[in-house]
Amino acid sequence: MQQIEEPESMQAVALGWRAQGFRIGFVPTMGYLHEGHASLMRLARPLCDKLVVSIYVNPTQFAPGEDFTTYPRSVERDRVICETEGVDVVFLPTNLYAPNHSVRVQELSLSKGLCGRSRPTHFDGVATIVVKLLNLVQPTVAVFGQKDAQQAQVIRKVVADLHMPVDIVLGPIHRDHDGLAMSSRNTYLSAYERSSALILSRSLEKADALFRAGERNAGMIRSLVLSEIDRVPEVRVDYVDIVDPDTLAAQETLGDVALLAIAAYVGRTRLIDNRVLRSE
Ligand code: AMP
Repeated sequence: MQQIEEPESMQAVALGWRAQGFRIGFVPTMGYLHEGHASLMRLARPLCDKLVVSIYVNPTQFAPGEDFTTYPRSVERDRVICETEGVDVVFLPTNLYAPNHSVRVQELSLSKGLCGRSRPTHFDGVATIVVKLLNLVQPTVAVFGQKDAQQAQVIRKVVADLHMPVDIVLGPIHRDHDGLAMSSRNTYLSAYERSSALILSRSLEKADALFRAGERNAGMIRSLVLSEIDRVPEVRVDYVDIVDPDTLAAQETLGDVALLAIAAYVGRTRLIDNRVLRSE
């Protein structure tokens, strides 16, 4: 496995591969890798000839006061995971913003609701870094996680609107044995907070059961989730929303498919989780 730190070197290697006709697969991450990230690498591997994983904690997607400086980092362990998953290049840039940078990529619609309400600049940072990384890595296919469902749709829109020649593939949410969605931020949780956090996946499951039993009133499903979470005092809801999985538009009367998305603070840690409600 090759390690590349310089953006120019990454782009030169990628352009060389493309010239030779190789398909490049790409999994962008912020590191502190876990099984969820590994599952995306496994999904990408058979779709490409050369697999690149980037590890970069992107400063522009954190607002002042968020956890940019404390975000967990463990490059040595991350390298082992990448090596095990058959990654060809781990791209570890130290900084992707020139001191005089003055360009941001903004998505003006899908990024406004859900997480965009409490993190109004977050998706500008995400869209900007993803365009930069796609330009450097030149992938034919890039794999993202359904865990960040809104991010995935924002990226799909950016790529479509900017005519970027890359397929965006989504991998399912990888969960711990007890249902907690894997996240690098789970490391912030105390044992007690971690057990409290289980209410998120459990309430999503209950909502799914209600949907499968025929409930199509979004308000009823939302109330169930809110009342479940309300029973756990350490957990404070940021939002519980039911939206169209593609357009992210709020839904009142549900059709056959809907996205139920949650953001909540468990202690001081903000976690997100979601479930696609689907009639069989
Ligand atoms: P992050 O390092 O948290 O920015 O995530 C990098 C990529 O991994 C994103 O596309 C995430 O959606 C994805 N990801 C994070 N957690 C999970 C998970 N539990 N299951 C599947 N994909 C995930």
